Amino acid sequence: MVETLSIAVIGAPGVGKTSIIRQFIYNDFTEAYTPTRTRYVFRPSVILNGNMYELKILDVPPISSFPASASQEWLDLRCRGVRNANAYILVYDICCVESFEYVKMIKQQIVENREGSSSEVPILVVGNKRDLQRQRFMPRRAVSVLVKKTWKCGYVECSAKFNWHVVLLFKELLGIAVARGMRQNHTSIRLQGALQRNRCTVM
Ligand code: GDP
Ligand code: MG
Repeated sequence: MVETLSIAVIGAPGVGKTSIIRQFIYNDFTEAYTPTRTRYVFRPSVILNGNMYELKILDVPPISSFPASASQEWLDLRCRGVRNANAYILVYDICCVESFEYVKMIKQQIVENREGSSSEVPILVVGNKRDLQRQRFMPRRAVSVLVKKTWKCGYVECSAKFNWHVVLLFKELLGIAVARGMRQNHTSIRLQGALQRNRCTVM
């Protein structure tokens, strides 16, 4: 049986959401900025430790807030499928404090507005543009401690431009998803070694 995992990628405009997804799936990067105006769904299949997963990655265009209700989500085409995603990647730009504030707001709203076991939903905070780290607004360690200890989310920094830690962040998210829930729902999946390098393949 192939598991399907829907992942919503959310963040302020220009932080590199589309670039991260495109690097992960196509090994492709462009300097030119083309703002994402409509919701786009990518459906890669990945093999992790010998198991195949179908990912449904939602590249979410700028939204002012996480949809507070099912009807709000239904009315706004940009956030279709966001409320009941299986996992979230919240991207910010390590040089832009406002983009971090945005991620903080969305994280809070996910916890408040999601139905069911909201606190259990896997959330990975991603600090992108690591190649520009001389201009970062906060030391990596301080953000990492805040996000992991206080927010109880995963934290990874990456550079979509140089394809650095991009595969790692998806492995990290799958690892959290497995630890928090998939294992309860699908006892048959074996995921020992899920985070081992070189064992995640995009098909
Ligand atoms: P989105 O609006 O969040 O989808 O952002 P995009 O993926 O469209 O990227 C916005 C801009 O940031 C583009 O000009 C990208 O080339 C650039 N960008 C994305 N990721 C990186 C990165 O890791 N490093 C640098 N230096 N630029 C990046
Ligand atoms: Mg985009």
